[in-house]
Amino acid sequence: MKKVALITGISGQDGSYLANFLLKKNYKIIGTDRRSSRDDQWRLRYFGIENKIIIEDMDLAEITQMIRVFNKYKIDEVYNLAAQSFVTNSFSNPITTCDITGIGCLRLLEVIRNLKYKLKFYQASSSEMFGNVLETPQNEKTFFNPKSPYAISKIFSHFMCKNYREAYKMFIVSGICFNHESPLRGEEFVTRKITSSLAKIEHGHIQYFELGNIFSKRDWGFAGDYVEGMWKSLQVKKPTDYIFSTNITKSIKEFIDESVKYLSFKTYWSFKRGKMELYKKGVNKPIIRINTKYYRPAEVNQLIGNNKKAKKILNWQPKVNFKELIRMMMVEDLKRLKKTTNH
Ligand code: NDP
Ligand code: GDP
Repeated sequence: MKKVALITGISGQDGSYLANFLLKKNYKIIGTDRRSSRDDQWRLRYFGIENKIIIEDMDLAEITQMIRVFNKYKIDEVYNLAAQSFVTNSFSNPITTCDITGIGCLRLLEVIRNLKYKLKFYQASSSEMFGNVLETPQNEKTFFNPKSPYAISKIFSHFMCKNYREAYKMFIVSGICFNHESPLRGEEFVTRKITSSLAKIEHGHIQYFELGNIFSKRDWGFAGDYVEGMWKSLQVKKPTDYIFSTNITKSIKEFIDESVKYLSFKTYWSFKRGKMELYKKGVNKPIIRINTKYYRPAEVNQLIGNNKKAKKILNWQPKVNFKELIRMMMVEDLKRLKKTTNH
């Protein structure tokens, strides 16, 4: 008998990596999408798995859709990856963010608590919950000090999961994932914005692009490694919380400096008149400008995890390092644009 996994947020980065991973483990996959009729499963198509997944409509705002889906299938494992996941957007849409990213998880927990069968539940918690960090590096016991509505809504769902695990003895795991990227990362996030924009400059589609604070630091890993950790965390006897991280932190500037190595021209930073800009050598125009419009009302300056617990209990560790991650992203973005340019 095949195990059945339900993945919320199937159209997102992690949804597609996890679906691809679980299909290889012979799972039957139900992927839930808030508007399946749009036929925008480009990430699933990247893996060639769009026809191997059963897609069901399920918005995290709509509990009736959840009841229908959970009664239609006998599910073994749920991976709750759906969220309004963009920090910047959470400042302009705080109520929607809390409703989807926070209460959405609680809606799922309530539906599952009332089912006639038992299942295992994975919640996508986030390193953003640590915010203005109170300890370095951050581990499962580090106190949260959030800096955005996104982080606050993730803390709500994180503690709801803990409460349901303790109160109702449900098998619930929260994975506190540090930033993880890939060639399938959304272009609104800084890493993919950098690699896709640099590829556009290389192919002459744009002259320059703008960024906000390039001195904040993140612990960046590869999404493919992190979905393996999610699965592993549901295969052990006891449910608990885990940190998934690389334990290395790098600035956005360091990310840029590594990315430009894949371009056909050399670059240099200029600090003239208090302004920082990246120039193409031999050309007197910047290719990266700083624009304060991309600064956030409140910033998380530095995140770095300690994955000791996941290493010990799950035998999990990231395989792809910072340089390799950037290589994958730059090569793919340059290849994508080459294809469209040739058409
Ligand atoms: P994405 O933004 O790529 O994917 C989010 C998914 O949630 C999309 O499929 C999106 O659908 C879906 N979604 C948004 N709103 C709703 C809604 N109202 N109802 C149902 N689905 C909805 O995120 P990732 O794949 O990168 O991340 C997966 C999870 O892990 C998220 O919860 C994120 O917050 C969390 N996380 C991610 C980290 C990272 O670095 N990637 C780090 C830590 C935590 P649509 O396509 O329709 O927008
Ligand atoms: P986050 O860590 O989940 O918020 O992931 P992001 O990729 O959205 O942002 C990572 C860091 O990059 C944050 O400190 C942002 O302030 C910083 N950053 C600088 N410029 C930009 C930009 O243009 N877009 C985004 N998304 N982030 C930027």
